[in-house]
Amino acid sequence: MADFDVVVLGSGPGGQKAAIAAAKLGKRVAVIEKRNMIGGVCINTGTIPSKTLREAVLYLTGLNQRELYGASYRVKDEITVTDLGMRTQHVIGREIQVIRAQLARNHVTVLQGTGRFLDPYTIGITGEDQDEKKVTADKIVIATGTSPARPASVEFDDKTVIDSDAILRLDRVPETLVVVGAGVIGIEYASMFAALGTKVTVIERRERMLEFCDLEIVEALKYHLRDLAVTFRFGESVAAVERRPRGALTLLESGKIIPADCVMYSAGRQGKTAELCLEAAGLSADDRGRIKVDENFATEVPHIYAVGDVIGFPALAATSMEQGRLAAQHACGEPSGDLAELPPIGIYTIPEISFVGRSEDELTRDKVPFEVGISRYRELARGQIIGDSYGMLKLLVSSEDRRLLGVHVFGTGATELVHIGQTVMGCGGTVDYLVNAVFNYPTLAESYKVAALDAMNKMRTVARLTADL
Ligand SMILES: Cc1cc2nc3c(=O)[nH]c(=O)nc-3n(C[C@H](O)[C@H](O)[C@H](O)COP(=O)(O)OP(=O)(O)OC[C@H]3O[C@@H](n4cnc5c(N)ncnc54)[C@H](O)[C@@H]3O)c2cc1C
Repeated sequence: MADFDVVVLGSGPGGQKAAIAAAKLGKRVAVIEKRNMIGGVCINTGTIPSKTLREAVLYLTGLNQRELYGASYRVKDEITVTDLGMRTQHVIGREIQVIRAQLARNHVTVLQGTGRFLDPYTIGITGEDQDEKKVTADKIVIATGTSPARPASVEFDDKTVIDSDAILRLDRVPETLVVVGAGVIGIEYASMFAALGTKVTVIERRERMLEFCDLEIVEALKYHLRDLAVTFRFGESVAAVERRPRGALTLLESGKIIPADCVMYSAGRQGKTAELCLEAAGLSADDRGRIKVDENFATEVPHIYAVGDVIGFPALAATSMEQGRLAAQHACGEPSGDLAELPPIGIYTIPEISFVGRSEDELTRDKVPFEVGISRYRELARGQIIGDSYGMLKLLVSSEDRRLLGVHVFGTGATELVHIGQTVMGCGGTVDYLVNAVFNYPTLAESYKVAALDAMNKMRTVARLTADL
């Protein structure tokens, strides 16, 4: 008999939920995790520290209160990394306790060390004493996540030239920062530092950023970030980064030279598969370290599953958790549903963005007729009360059957608000539901009703003119 029914490699969101789902089905489960990494990238270096840092920045700078109290409003004049780090460390500590308690409560064994395959059913675990212990399992879930990709041509020193892990360990708030790569992580950090007063330059090879988002909302974000002194260099590539005693020079292929205290590379992420010895299990990874899986998250070796960032897109904590749960259920022979078709996307820039469903660009490309309904926070009583004059919610409504095709939100609470739209869409609801619903007043949620009425009025105008002879 194997030592465990299920062994999970990695304790990030994917691994945790896989382990707990299997334990709930009465299986003997172990999670293998490296020292000081319980909770994975999510808790230690990714989602949770970045979102807590954002909260600390918003609170200490008083940025969201300036509309009401004036441009000079601050909670603290000199914000230090200690001020910022305190909140982050507090939340990380608490979250680790929660995860440890959940694993213990469900009788999941935590094995500390780095795991690698010795054969398809055996994992070797090397702990701090460098001794390799072996465990066997009937089913194995790989949830080893990713680490920041580091271009070979760039010399990282974790102080001046850094990645998104090292940005959490800076010893001071830089006065100037270059962010290379305007993906979600790059732009989230760019906006946090801009809010702190750092002069940020974002360099992006492509002509646009966040291409999967609604164009109008990305334009609104760019406007806001420019207002916080962010400079965008789109269509530009970095030729070299030169470290100097008091900062770094970023040399662009166009010949421009950008001086800064610090350069943060946000150039994608690499699957953590190199140390797994996948070949011993009959598996392999692609050049970005990702493992191929089927619709049940099973790899080419049927008793081995892979979930989370290590399988690639969408690489979110939100989806990784669900993949973990579904993989474990499948591995344990428990019937399970499919991953929901409508995952929301949340981007925690300042201001934040969230959406579910399709964008105007996608619908136009696919020749799907739609009407747009817009609500602006400044026209809502709650928007005035909280001092958010820029927020907006946009509904994309099918002109054929009035169903919601997409919901796009920009501004305070966007990542929470989007779930109302997600629920209506998931239940196949039409705009009529939102037109007729009564919302609490004054709330931001009321924006759904305002946007629904806007879309409805536009559709009514089309219907009226069409009926005219
Ligand atoms: C800066 C940043 C911000 C983010 N913000 C968000 C956000 O706002 N919302 C969101 O949904 N997602 C966000 N993400 C993405 C999110 O963090 C990831 O999608 C999520 O953590 C992936 O979970 P995972 O289970 O795949 O593994 P991870 O969280 O990556 O954890 C994998 C774990 O496996 C361990 N491991 C690796 N190899 C081995 C081995 N050989 N043996 C034992 N253990 C091993 C690692 O130590 C690690 O602890 C963010 C990511 C970053 C970097």
